[in-house]
Amino acid sequence: MIPIATPVRTQAIVNRYLIHTQKKLGQNFLVDVNVIQAILQAAEIQPGDHVIEIGPGIGALSEQLLLAGAKVLAYEVDPALKPILENELPAKIEGVPLAEKFQLKLQDVLKADLTHDSAAFFQSMAPVKVVANLPYYITTPIIFSLLHSDLPWHSLTLMMQKEVAQRLVAVPKTKAFGPLSIAVQTRMKAQLQLEVDKTSFWPQPKVSSSVVTLTPLKQPLVAAEDTAFDRMVKRCFNQRRKTLLNNLKPILPDAGARKALVKSLDVKPNARPEELSIAQIIALVKALSVKR
Ligand code: SAM
Repeated sequence: MIPIATPVRTQAIVNRYLIHTQKKLGQNFLVDVNVIQAILQAAEIQPGDHVIEIGPGIGALSEQLLLAGAKVLAYEVDPALKPILENELPAKIEGVPLAEKFQLKLQDVLKADLTHDSAAFFQSMAPVKVVANLPYYITTPIIFSLLHSDLPWHSLTLMMQKEVAQRLVAVPKTKAFGPLSIAVQTRMKAQLQLEVDKTSFWPQPKVSSSVVTLTPLKQPLVAAEDTAFDRMVKRCFNQRRKTLLNNLKPILPDAGARKALVKSLDVKPNARPEELSIAQIIALVKALSVKR
């Protein structure tokens, strides 16, 4: 059988079910099976893996996950895709009926109880791998909701907008480095896996895409639930073009205290916020929380 992730099979499905893709739901389906194989490799998918897939669409990625031996719990918000997934995914995988290997939850993943659903479907609390070609409008909400959830997860392998991927993996002293890089890298290891051409999707998206894997740090530098840390970092980066000293004005009105603080961090007086290392940012936020 030709994979779903090919232009010819996707087109046949679109014609058969008269699909009108919904832009607002980020419906850009993968039509390049090599990209999907690269995603599976990045996620180190092994037979028997428990996978949560966000947004299965017409099943391009789900099909390959199943063929690689994974058990897949998928969340899809568009009910029109249900009959397609039921009919187009293989009816049996190595002799096992689809229903034992694949469960579809028709709901918004951000409102779902992933921990409850995983325990029920996988019948185990072993860490799951989250794999998705994400609808781009939920990229950061989904990362943070997984970070804050009690779902035991092993890794997140996510296709996202290239620009967001660059921010997740950015290092200090680069344009992309900012609050998102810091929020993620203080809790997770972020690795850029591959960049994906627009021609690998149907319909083609306007923006370029990348795949990133996120794995939890064994010893997070900041607790996942410490949202006050993230808010303070945002305030320090409020006006990126200005110096750190200037950004600190509304937070620490006393000029002397401000200068002393920046000096204590071993940062040059005219440094901009993105020039600080993650360790310096953590020290800065800690000092600000004490001083205020
Ligand atoms: N996995 C498929 C593929 O790679 O071809 C489809 C990926 S497409 C980029 C994103 C999918 O996420 C769409 O099918 C869309 O309907 C679904 N989606 C959008 N918002 C969602 C949400 N809040 N919860 C669950 N699924 C969502």
